[in-house]
Amino acid sequence: MPQSSTASKKPNAAGQKALVIGAGIVGVNVALALQDKGYDVTIVDRGEPGMGASFGNAGGIAVTECAPIAMPGILSNVPGWLMDPLGPLSVRWRYLPKMLPWLARFLAASSKTRVEQIATELAALLHRAWDDYDPMIAKAGLADAVFKKEGALAVYRTDASRRKDDYGIDLRRRNGINIRDVSRSEIRDLEPDLAPIFACGVMEEDWGRVLDPYKIVMGLFKLFTDRGGKFETGEVTDFVYRDGKPRAAITTSGDNITFDTVVVACGAWSKTLSKRLGSPVPLDTERGYNTTVPYHGASLSRMVICADDSFVMTPMEMGIRVGGAVELGGLVASPNYDRAKALFAKGQQVLPKLNPEGGTEWMGFRPSMPDSKPVISKSPNHQNVFFAFGHGHLGLTLAATTGRLISDLMSGAETPVNMTPYRINRF
Ligand SMILES: Cc1cc2nc3c(=O)[nH]c(=O)nc-3n(C[C@H](O)[C@H](O)[C@H](O)COP(=O)(O)OP(=O)(O)OC[C@H]3O[C@@H](n4cnc5c(N)ncnc54)[C@H](O)[C@@H]3O)c2cc1C
Repeated sequence: MPQSSTASKKPNAAGQKALVIGAGIVGVNVALALQDKGYDVTIVDRGEPGMGASFGNAGGIAVTECAPIAMPGILSNVPGWLMDPLGPLSVRWRYLPKMLPWLARFLAASSKTRVEQIATELAALLHRAWDDYDPMIAKAGLADAVFKKEGALAVYRTDASRRKDDYGIDLRRRNGINIRDVSRSEIRDLEPDLAPIFACGVMEEDWGRVLDPYKIVMGLFKLFTDRGGKFETGEVTDFVYRDGKPRAAITTSGDNITFDTVVVACGAWSKTLSKRLGSPVPLDTERGYNTTVPYHGASLSRMVICADDSFVMTPMEMGIRVGGAVELGGLVASPNYDRAKALFAKGQQVLPKLNPEGGTEWMGFRPSMPDSKPVISKSPNHQNVFFAFGHGHLGLTLAATTGRLISDLMSGAETPVNMTPYRINRF
C-alpha cells in the first residue's frame, strides 16, 4: 500500500544523498522536488545545465496534447516519410535498420484501442502540469518573466483538413481537454498578421508558452543551487555496486559520486545508463528543428500550430521561433539544417512578414518512447534507482509533474496518479 503522508517521510529523506543524472528541464525539476522532500541533492551533467533538448524547444506548455504521435492510420504514411527527406516526419535511411524495433512498437501503439488508452494516461499527467509548475516557478520568482498562458491557435487551410483531425480533437475533448472551434474571421481577429489563407481553426485555451525555454531551466537551476543543491560536471558511464545495490556513479571526470538514491534523467541519452542498471528500454530520439528570427515587424499574440504542415510558431522573448518536424535519425548523425530552412519557408507562407535576417537554426533530440508516454518509474531491480525520461514532445510541459511524482515514489508518499502506465518495464 502506498503511504499517505508526505510530511511524515521528510525525516527519512533528511540527509539522504540523492543524485540526479542530467541537468535538463526534467532533471532540474526532479532535483527541486527532491529538495522539497528533504533530500540532499546533487545534479551531475556532462556539460552545462540546460543545453540538451531543453535549450531550444518550441516553448509550449502543451497541456492539451494528450493524443499520441502514432495515431490510427499512421501506417499509410510510412512510404511518404521514406521518400520525402524534408517532410514533417522523415527517416534517415542509414539509421532505419537500427530504428526498426522502435518503429514496430510505434506502429503497434497506433491501434485505436492503444491510442484511446494512451490518451487517457497522458491526460492524467497533463491535467496536473500547471498545478505542479506554478508553485515552483513562484518560488524561483520567475512567474511573469517566463510564462504566458493565453492558449494556442491551431489553423487549417480547408474545412476538409480540419475534418481529418476530427478524431484527434474528439479524443482530446473526451479526455477533458478544452478545445473551441474558431471561424475564419475570428482567426483574423486573433492573429491579424497571419496570411488570410485559413478556413478555420481551433483554440486550445489552456495551453501556455515560455518566453525562453533555456531561461526557465536556468531560473529553476538557480533556485536549486540557492537552496544548497550541488552541481558536478562529468559524464556518468557506469555504477559502483555495494551489497548488490548501485551506490556510486562513475564519471569521466575521474571522480565517483556516491549516493543513497539515483535518478536517471538524461533525456534522449538515458538508454545506456538504464541498461547498465538492469532496465533495457526502447528509447530513441525524434530529432526536431527550428529557426528563431528577431522581430522585424511580424507579430503573434500566442503560439500558432499550422496543422496542415505540422509546424508551430512561437512568439518568444528573442523573436519568433518556427519549427517542429520529426526526423528519425538517431543521436549521432549531424543535423540537416535544410529541414529547418524548409520549415521556415512554410512559416513565411503563413506569416508573410517573417524575415530570415539574423535567424538562428537549431536541432534538438526529443527523448521518445514508442508509445509517446514518458518513463516515470522506480527500478524493478533496485529499490534506490529511479527513471525520469522519454517525454518526447512534452518534456517541458511535464517536467514539474515528473519531479513531483518521482519525489513521491522515492519518499514512499502516495502518488496523485496511478503510476503503472509510466513504468520502465511496460514493454
Ligand atoms: C524542436 C523541438 C521542439 C520541442 N517543443 C516542445 C514544446 O513546445 N513543449 C514541450 O513540452 N516539449 C517540447 N520539446 C521536447 C522537450 O524539449 C524535451 O522533451 C525536453 O527538453 C527533455 O528534457 P530532458 O531534461 O529529459 O532532456 P535534455 O534537456 O536533453 O537534458 C538531458 C541532459 O542529460 C545530460 N546527459 C546525457 N547523458 C549523460 C550522462 N551519461 N552523464 C551526465 N549527463 C548526461 C545532457 O548533457 C543533458 O544536459 C521539443 C523538442 C524539440 C527537439
